[in-house]
Amino acid sequence: MNVNISEVPDPPAEGRLIRGSYCEEPIAGTTLFPHILEKDQTISRRSSDFLRRYFPLTDENNWNDWRWQLSNSFSTLEALSKVMDLTEDEIYAINSLKNCHRLPLRITPYYLSLIHDIDRFNPLRRTMIPTPEEFFSTETECSDPLDETGSSPVTGIVHRYPDRALFTVTQFCSSYCRYCTRSHSVGKLGNLSHSEWNEAINYLREHTEIRDVVISGGDPLTMTDHRLEFILNTLRSIKHIEIIRIGTKVPVVLPMRITPALTSMLKKYHPLFMSIHFTHPDEISVETKRACEMLADAGIPLGSQTVLLKGINDDPETMKRLMQKLLTARVRPYYIYQCDPIPGSSHFRTTIEDGINIIENLRGHTSGYAVPQYVVDAPGGGGKIPVLPDYVVHSGPEKWVFRNYQKKLFEYPNK
Ligand code: SF4
Repeated sequence: MNVNISEVPDPPAEGRLIRGSYCEEPIAGTTLFPHILEKDQTISRRSSDFLRRYFPLTDENNWNDWRWQLSNSFSTLEALSKVMDLTEDEIYAINSLKNCHRLPLRITPYYLSLIHDIDRFNPLRRTMIPTPEEFFSTETECSDPLDETGSSPVTGIVHRYPDRALFTVTQFCSSYCRYCTRSHSVGKLGNLSHSEWNEAINYLREHTEIRDVVISGGDPLTMTDHRLEFILNTLRSIKHIEIIRIGTKVPVVLPMRITPALTSMLKKYHPLFMSIHFTHPDEISVETKRACEMLADAGIPLGSQTVLLKGINDDPETMKRLMQKLLTARVRPYYIYQCDPIPGSSHFRTTIEDGINIIENLRGHTSGYAVPQYVVDAPGGGGKIPVLPDYVVHSGPEKWVFRNYQKKLFEYPNK
């Protein structure tokens, strides 16, 4: 089959920042994300203030155009330093990115509007702004800790589990998370060539055991509707592929990408699922919630994926708030991942006991729907391994003894 991929998008142009005379102070007070969407407003107050202050010649229609967001993303020290006070450490780290093969800097104006005026210890800021710790690697870290390369039969496909395959359709993201598992390839490698696309599709076509394909990257929702539809249509033409999943952070960092045209197109390709990457409850802004609701209204089951990160979301209360807010946005908490040991990740990584403690503080303490699975993606390519608090106190042919979430003991007759 001859696959036409001529519409793979080029990386957007560098950010264009217009500094104007509008100098209204950011919203005062302690609420970082006032979820205000007044009548007839198309963007939240916080985004609106940022837009007027830093893009005074641009209107809300542009702001709400995802292509405008991509082409005005912040990817240089010069652009970023015009809208936020960077620390010396952050400046040093951003400058150092040029000289090493690290994940590039890129933040959408929308996401920057959430973090531009908050202190350097803020959880959201830490996920996007590089720091010097990124350049310290330990012996146990490696660039492809899950050995995806070893499970890749052809470029663009990772085939680890018997009936599922990962299809990395782009290496581009609208914003780059500093702890990205695929930092060895994301933001660096180019798009697949014509022949690589053909090989990937042919692999999926020939492997009739594959019934579930995850489209990921990079972020597939940074592609045009037309391009995405081409991929979905091609996958749907393969009879043995029963379900398609899309992995994305776009509803969180570029929520205006979720348009009526996109959702109308996506719903033609059911059963279609979406895994959305959330990190912190403060990411669930009015814009993100609306994007999730549009996807849910299109009949797409939404699940969350969250990487456990030190000092960002590793306390039970923050994680509980995130999981509960996800449910209000109609997203079912799906996975909490132990942070993978990529180079320069030690400042982000927690112990596994921290992860177990979080589940201990969720299960029984909030709705079951708000309790995701905590998994360790085994280094070396062992796949996702669920890790649970130990609720079994005794097991035997006569009875099992369990402890519940309050640490009270209960027996079950095992016969
Ligand atoms: S959105 Fe996903 S693929 Fe992109 S940088 Fe973040 S973690 Fe990596």
